[in-house]
Amino acid sequence: MPESLDTALAQHAYRIDERTRTFLDRQHQLLIGGGWVAPREGGTIDVIDPATAQHIATVAAATAPDVDDAVAAARKAFERGAWPAMSGGARAKLLWALADRIGADAQVLGELETLDNGKPLADTLAIDIKVGAELLRYMGGWATKLKGDSTQIGDPGDFQAYSLREPIGVVGQIIPWNFPLLMALLKIGPALAAGCTLILKPAEQTPLTALRLGALALEVGFPPGVINILTGYGETAGAALAAHPDIDKIAFTGSTEVGRRIVAAAAGNLKRVSLELGGKSPMIVMPDADVDAVIAGVVPGIFFNAGQSCMAGSRLLVHDSLAQHITQGIAARARAIRVGSGFDPRTQVGPLVSQTQRERVQSYIQSGLDEGARLVTGGERLPGDGFFLTPTVFADVHATMKIAREEIFGPVLCISRFAGTDLDHIARLANDTPYGLAASIWTQNISTAHTLIPKLKSGQVWVNAHHVGGPDLPIGGYKQSGWGRELGRAGVELYTELKAVAIALKKPADWLQLKG
Ligand code: NDP
Repeated sequence: MPESLDTALAQHAYRIDERTRTFLDRQHQLLIGGGWVAPREGGTIDVIDPATAQHIATVAAATAPDVDDAVAAARKAFERGAWPAMSGGARAKLLWALADRIGADAQVLGELETLDNGKPLADTLAIDIKVGAELLRYMGGWATKLKGDSTQIGDPGDFQAYSLREPIGVVGQIIPWNFPLLMALLKIGPALAAGCTLILKPAEQTPLTALRLGALALEVGFPPGVINILTGYGETAGAALAAHPDIDKIAFTGSTEVGRRIVAAAAGNLKRVSLELGGKSPMIVMPDADVDAVIAGVVPGIFFNAGQSCMAGSRLLVHDSLAQHITQGIAARARAIRVGSGFDPRTQVGPLVSQTQRERVQSYIQSGLDEGARLVTGGERLPGDGFFLTPTVFADVHATMKIAREEIFGPVLCISRFAGTDLDHIARLANDTPYGLAASIWTQNISTAHTLIPKLKSGQVWVNAHHVGGPDLPIGGYKQSGWGRELGRAGVELYTELKAVAIALKKPADWLQLKG
């Protein structure tokens, strides 16, 4: 174990569970074919605690030969052995067992996630782990309910016709660092429910909970090769997965830029692709909104997870009549947010995930200043080595500014005003972005809400709330925010192929004689 783990823990003033320490101390390898194996080319990745900048663990860096091995193991598990012979009910039991095992291991998973990503331990336990385990249980339910339809073709009695839903095959899943465990569960749950086998690649910054998840999956008895986990870099392991000729589908969450690369790489064997990409989600405040509810709701809408959420409400479009009052209220709340170590129970917002990410966010803040936006509060680093940044609010942001157009992925809110109540005009402002992931409308007028909802080009629309959802509510994006929908029935069906079957019940008419 790196000695710097103790330095990190001393700075956090936190004593980790012995099981967490033992896990960190492991020589981390790749999960391929039901066993832990060393990477063929021997590469490693240093795992850094973003709150202290200390090196806390070292994991393996998979490369193309490891991807070949993992794909071969996943293919074998998909075609032969226990997994394809298993009923939906048996798959559901395994998913439930994994959810229970995650619940029992919550303290360790939570500590790993907080050390690795920086997010507050209370959030990790209440959201990432609890919601993630529920998601697996929900997806387990679908394992017994995937079915096609029966239909009629020709005259009744001539044919028996129906469709079948079948697992798509071997899937590659590439996930980001903002919700490492939750994102892993969101990806593996539907794939396993559908009967696929998979290779999961977590982000280089946050590999620890995926490795722990792999160990738990082995413990509960997933057959060898069904779940393979490759820690590694995107440009090597990720790119090899996206291009691999024996992978049937790639599921990706991350930046729109990398999403485009995935699509290009997948073209070789025309594998199926689903993408959950970036966002620049508007929060629209109408003149009749409940001001206190807006202030209480939009602050977590942007600052939850330090703004590192694809659905973060990063643009606040507020009616002129409320703009000053709401801006002041939000700024006061933003200043009161406690930023610090995720292990301090009083912390509400942790560090950004990496030095690179903080620099990227700070460069956006500088661009906002350069382009004339008004910095109301925030934009400061905290003293020390961690990658902390105080919650930042810009007012007087114009639609043409870079901070209004590009995904910042950090704790930065951009406030713009609008005049009037023409809903077509307001929808045009909200839709004026290449993205279309989420939007919230703040109004007390039910007619305004219902009229505006269909005008928004957005995969999710919330009214008087932001960032809400559940396992049965699909998520995904319009425009450049992605392809496909995750969660709900749509999310499981992403991992299936639809097969049409027609069976002649009578001797068919002689086709040549009919033509004659
Ligand atoms: P990326 O999109 O680069 O990373 C997401 C995942 O893709 C990671 O596992 C990464 O691997 C992998 N990856 C990177 N390059 C390739 C490739 N060529 N082929 C296959 N996989 C690849 O996000 P970043 O971490 O670089 O963050 C940059 C920006 O992306 C953020 O500022 C934010 O705007 C956006 N983002 C959006 C997210 C969302 O949920 N929509 C989540 C994360 C980021 P590795 O990390 O190992 O390189």
